[in-house]
Amino acid sequence: MSERINVMEIFGENVFNDAVMQERLPRKTYKELKNTIEAGTELQASTADVIAHEMKEWAIEKGATHYSHWFQPLTGATAEKHDAFISAPKSNGKVLMEFSGKELIKGEPDASSFPSGGLRSTFEARGYTTWDCTSPAFVKKSSDGKTAILYIPTAFCSYTGEALDQKTPLLRSMEAINKESVRLIRLFGNTTSTKVLPSVGVEQEYFLVDRDKYLKRKDLVFTGRTLFGAMPPKGQELDDHYFGAIRERIAAFMQDLNEELWKLGVAAKTQHNEVAPGQHELAPIYAQCNVAVDHNQLVMETLKKVAYKHNLHCLLHEKPFNGVNGSGKHNNWSLVTDDGINLLDPGKNPHGNLQFLLILTCILKAVDTHAELLRESAADVGNDHRLGADEAPPAIISAYLGEQLQDVLEQFIDKGEAEHSLRGEKLHTGVSTLPDFRKDATDRNRTSPFAFTGNKFEFRMVGSRDSVASPNIVLNTIVAEAFSDACDYLEKAEDFDAAVHELISKYATEHQRIVFNGNGYSEEWVKEAERRGLPNIATTVESYDILTREDTIETFEKFNVFSRAELESRAEINYEIYTKVVNIEAKAMIDIASKHIIPAVIKYVTELASSINQIRQACSVACVDVQEERLMESSKLLSETRNALCKLEELMDEASKQENGRGKAYFFMQQIVPAMKALRDPVDKLEMIVDKNNWPMPSYGDLLFEV
Ligand code: ADP
Ligand code: MG
Repeated sequence: MSERINVMEIFGENVFNDAVMQERLPRKTYKELKNTIEAGTELQASTADVIAHEMKEWAIEKGATHYSHWFQPLTGATAEKHDAFISAPKSNGKVLMEFSGKELIKGEPDASSFPSGGLRSTFEARGYTTWDCTSPAFVKKSSDGKTAILYIPTAFCSYTGEALDQKTPLLRSMEAINKESVRLIRLFGNTTSTKVLPSVGVEQEYFLVDRDKYLKRKDLVFTGRTLFGAMPPKGQELDDHYFGAIRERIAAFMQDLNEELWKLGVAAKTQHNEVAPGQHELAPIYAQCNVAVDHNQLVMETLKKVAYKHNLHCLLHEKPFNGVNGSGKHNNWSLVTDDGINLLDPGKNPHGNLQFLLILTCILKAVDTHAELLRESAADVGNDHRLGADEAPPAIISAYLGEQLQDVLEQFIDKGEAEHSLRGEKLHTGVSTLPDFRKDATDRNRTSPFAFTGNKFEFRMVGSRDSVASPNIVLNTIVAEAFSDACDYLEKAEDFDAAVHELISKYATEHQRIVFNGNGYSEEWVKEAERRGLPNIATTVESYDILTREDTIETFEKFNVFSRAELESRAEINYEIYTKVVNIEAKAMIDIASKHIIPAVIKYVTELASSINQIRQACSVACVDVQEERLMESSKLLSETRNALCKLEELMDEASKQENGRGKAYFFMQQIVPAMKALRDPVDKLEMIVDKNNWPMPSYGDLLFEV
């Protein structure tokens, strides 16, 4: 029997949160820190010393011996370096446990080994991590509870102040959207809210496979996805996994996962089985954007850690299995004032809510104007296998509004104003014991990449393994830009009301093409989108080109989110990461094909051949067509495999001679990726013929159905 856990008690128990600070810090210190967190005032060195001391004392009580500046370099993962709290030994040979304000505020990891895209050469290795006091510090314990480390969320910059991480531009973009949103709500007479922050809720999809089987799949071990693998007889066609009853082994895993996350202050809320066998989802309750981004990193780490404990392995790759649903992440985004008003809440009568309608149409304008940038923000090597496949939104950006808002905007387009809003009707089930209730005014659309869902937008293109920093940086910035343009106009208007009506109609009309309420997975939509002139960027590599386009640089520089140099460096890093990932995949394929698959097939055909010979010897008239057919077929596929392998090796040789950068990334995308597919095809056919006992690794069926 499991112990009963007290959720209210354990929630946030390892977080240096507001309650802990209020309790432990002197009043004056607490107030000063709150001021820094809320209004961005500078923190005095003496205050930092007091906070550091209390943080250390608290962490030691939790068992911590070390602290770590925790940051998010451009590798996609998080980085940490641990320092013990100990001071230099005194003359009596004893040490003290120390942690100064300076150590809290500033760290100096050797930055030379993190991607910098030319912003810093290896001999100029200095990089700094700086405490981000808007995201609470926490203590992370190992599964056995033996080690505990104090983690301090930090931003990571170069010696010259350029961002080398995800957090710095994210915080900058949050300042931009805050400033422009406050400007906008002031125009509508709001004098009480002092701050507007994006709220973000991230739904995370993942696969769980048995760890022993995982270890037998070198492709999964090296690359996170299967590079070979034939479809099992059963896939997801019966839809029996989605929302299906959760198996006990998985339920036990989820329970542990929740517990770990709750202790870290992550409000894990919803869990269910996803579409594919072996696939699941976790959604925490939304939080302030910066915290939500940090929390999502913690979710991904904790998924891996807890899976290990249950002898499972968590696959976060966007497409671990060909032909099976991939994994994504839904980034739910809204704008909320410090006094709790959600600016994306249309209210009961959207047609009369001019502030909401202006915000909505500004968002449409932003998304239409910068569709390519939003697409780029979800670009990731793994996501190329997912976007545009029939389970994921296509690579075309469009926005879904639903009937009610669509109708209101149409009224504006036709008449320059709206007089009514469609209402949700009563839901009648026809069963007297089931309560009737009023339905939402609008149904949902699961196929839209950017869907309005009641009081937030849900961006569904993001890949499961990717950080959600990029999409939020882009959203915050492009919406800030649209707000800024609108404010520039409205602040000068003589008749405010008329000017607002005019802008709503203008934006709704000019950016109508981005709105699509139909089936985003259909072939017709691809054609329709092309007719509308909407960009359709099929691959990750192509999408990176947008980062260094002049209009992109202008937008980001205007709102101080990225400088030209930072964007150029990011593009360069992205090309390089793409190249490296595909390079590893191709090398792993070559390795597995030559050392495991080809020898296994040779063994199989040899056994077949000797069995044919034996049968012939035993009885010259015995029929051996089945064996002969198989022998012919597998020998043919074996030689196709060899040819494809040689071709891939040749191309890899050619690739290795290319200079790093955009050209090399394109070479990998255009030459290596198709050559990998050409190698996979005959191997997957062979897997269907070769005796299962001879096949050198667990099959899709073993991985997906035997967890
Ligand atoms: P669904 O699957 O219906 O989209 P889920 O409950 O799985 O809904 O996930 C919705 C996510 O959106 C959750 O993380 C939730 O906390 C978050 N969310 C809800 N309201 C808002 C909001 N106003 N702003 C941002 N995120 C929100
Ligand atoms: Mg959802």
